Amino acid sequence: MRILIADDDPVSRRVLEATLRRWGHELVVCQNGWQAWQELQKEDAPRLAILDWMMPGMDGLQVCAAVRQRQQDRYTYLLLLTARGQKEDLVAGLDAGADDYLTKPFHAHELKARLRAGKRILDLEEQLIEAREALRIQATRDPITGLWNHAAILEALQRELARASREHQPLAVVMVDLDHFKRVNDTFGHLVGDAVLREAARRLSTNIRSYDAMGRYGGEEFLIVFPNCTRDDALRRSERLRLALCQEPIHVPQATVTVSASFGVAAIESPFPTDGDTLLHAADEALYAAKRCGRNRVEQAPDPSAGTELVLRQAACQ
Ligand code: GH3
Ligand code: MG
Ligand code: MG
Repeated sequence: MRILIADDDPVSRRVLEATLRRWGHELVVCQNGWQAWQELQKEDAPRLAILDWMMPGMDGLQVCAAVRQRQQDRYTYLLLLTARGQKEDLVAGLDAGADDYLTKPFHAHELKARLRAGKRILDLEEQLIEAREALRIQATRDPITGLWNHAAILEALQRELARASREHQPLAVVMVDLDHFKRVNDTFGHLVGDAVLREAARRLSTNIRSYDAMGRYGGEEFLIVFPNCTRDDALRRSERLRLALCQEPIHVPQATVTVSASFGVAAIESPFPTDGDTLLHAADEALYAAKRCGRNRVEQAPDPSAGTELVLRQAACQ
């Protein structure tokens, strides 16, 4: 374990240091409370600290209080080590934010046991963080493709729309629907269908920029949000995505399948307000135009903000 120790007394510091090193711990050694506080604020600070109470400048209690006051993602386990052994001292130490308390001169077995107790807490916290992260991924990711799910991509769209309107930047959305995908399932079965869907999603998502967002909007339908992107740019990018998808057949176990998709592009380029629903509706219309015109092609919607502009102009004329 990485452990921070802070003690202003060189003798007891060395005894503690030697003991902990003998047990195989990696140490950050501090000579006073101030130094400990500086070290504990670093990104990669040890998550367990053994602090002497009485130190010049900033004492152990003050370090505990400072650590507890800051907003922090990860927990720091604090063990106070001191010559003071009164009950009131113990209460004051725990009140200041210490997790445990050990009187000097420390008993090696007791210290070892208390470190084990600290490690149990930190391990538990680690597991909780992992579980939380797994839940977060589960709640926002589509399990088949690993892309944002329906709710998460709509959230990304709302965020980008707000940014586009704030910064007066263009924004484009693209609705993508795989062509005749039912045939893939009907011919090769659903498992092959899933594998093809996954590879199609990979081909599309590896051909967008890191700040674009792509999600699985529905069954074999994807939504891509292109921030700071004009309609002409979005049309060019969609054309590239279309080619990236259909140029090479997809090889999956048990099948080789050629897929294509139809693309509907909608964009806002003027500062007129457009809500997400209007934009999505426009992209959807364009997608269906692409389907009607023979599939495996990119179609665009009229600029929805142009409609708003017209309505505003008409309103101004009345
Ligand atoms: P079109 O070109 O008009 O879009 O034709 P299509 O066959 O792709 O469209 P349709 O809406 O008729 O059928 C969509 C198909 O996509 C049917 C459904 O089984 C398949 N699909 C949707 N989600 C999944 C999935 O998660 N896995 C698999 N394997 N297939 C899926
Ligand atoms: Mg389809
Ligand atoms: Mg569909």
